[in-house]
Amino acid sequence: MQQAKQVSETARSNKPLPMSMRVANAMHKIGVVGLPRNYEVFYGAISGTSPEIQKELMEIGNGIDQEKLDELFAKYCARADDEVTIAKICNAVESKLSSTIEMIKNEQSSVSQYGKILGQATQKLDPGSRMSPDVVNKLVGLLSDATATTQKQGQKTLEEIEDNSSELQAIKSELAEYKKQAETDALTGLYNRRAFDNRLGGVNGQAFGQSALIIGDIDRFKTLNDTYGHPFGDLVIKNIARVMQSNSREDVLLARLGGEEFAIFSTGINEEGMMRLAERVRVSIAEESFGDGRIKLGPGKVTISLGVCHASAAENVQSLYSQADEALYASKRNGRNRVTSYDDLSKSPERKNLYLYQD
Ligand code: GH3
Ligand code: MG
Ligand code: MG
Repeated sequence: MQQAKQVSETARSNKPLPMSMRVANAMHKIGVVGLPRNYEVFYGAISGTSPEIQKELMEIGNGIDQEKLDELFAKYCARADDEVTIAKICNAVESKLSSTIEMIKNEQSSVSQYGKILGQATQKLDPGSRMSPDVVNKLVGLLSDATATTQKQGQKTLEEIEDNSSELQAIKSELAEYKKQAETDALTGLYNRRAFDNRLGGVNGQAFGQSALIIGDIDRFKTLNDTYGHPFGDLVIKNIARVMQSNSREDVLLARLGGEEFAIFSTGINEEGMMRLAERVRVSIAEESFGDGRIKLGPGKVTISLGVCHASAAENVQSLYSQADEALYASKRNGRNRVTSYDDLSKSPERKNLYLYQD
């Protein structure tokens, strides 16, 4: 009995673990948080479906952290989703187009057949030739059959084209939905980095002159993650996005640039207005409580630092971005939970010490 038990345990232990468990075990061993996106990254590596992820994970080794995992996810997994969606939509459009073309061809051949019959009938109906009532009867019968067939075919084609056009309409809205998804940050519902880069890249001329940018970065977020766990960190990111949204006008672009970094871009608010907006966001976050029923962080426990730059102080969008970032890091350096304007910073002697910032 004892022996039988041993044998069956050995047999059980020799059985390869299911992929899901191998992935979960590997994540647990390295201390990776069990988020769905982390699972996707590890699945790619362990199942061998993504040798690129496997290679990069090996190179990163023990230095793995959430930021690197998110980079891998954005680089390999998110894009793979995009490709599948695009291929699906292209196939659907292609098949609808080719069946519409086929229908039009059939319609053409049926109309040309009808034309031929009409031509022959016209010849036979030559007023110079005498025809018996029998022949006239036959001709009328032939013509009315051909007319009915052509009408039927025309009706069928019309209905099928209508069907196809409503399917193409559905594809169009699927594409719109896909575009929205591709531009949206899944965690917060804000615009993502790609949408932000596209929007900034498209701003020029007069619109650039009225542009302004706020960049915000949550303070000491790593400590918050380490203390309360990554899922709670995600919840904080989500709530911060909501607070930013409720403080912003509809005409600004609100984006999560990645990790715990956000941007507010506007082409219609002047410098003072942007400073007021940044300050309003800062105060609202500092006054907010964050909790999930288990953990409760009262006002002042989560704060954000912000940097503001207006196009009047920038040469182009690149410098608008880097100068807003410079102002943000001045806020960090000066104690966090504050707003700095690049304009003020560029006039202050403190700017000289900018590169001394280190955490
Ligand atoms: P500082 O005040 O200087 O900004 O300090 P910090 O700790 O916020 O900055 P640091 O760059 O050292 O850490 C950012 C942390 O944000 C590290 C990373 O694990 C975490 N993080 C990045 N993306 C996410 C995410 O999507 N969710 C969660 N929960 N954490 C994330
Ligand atoms: Mg950061
Ligand atoms: Mg931070």
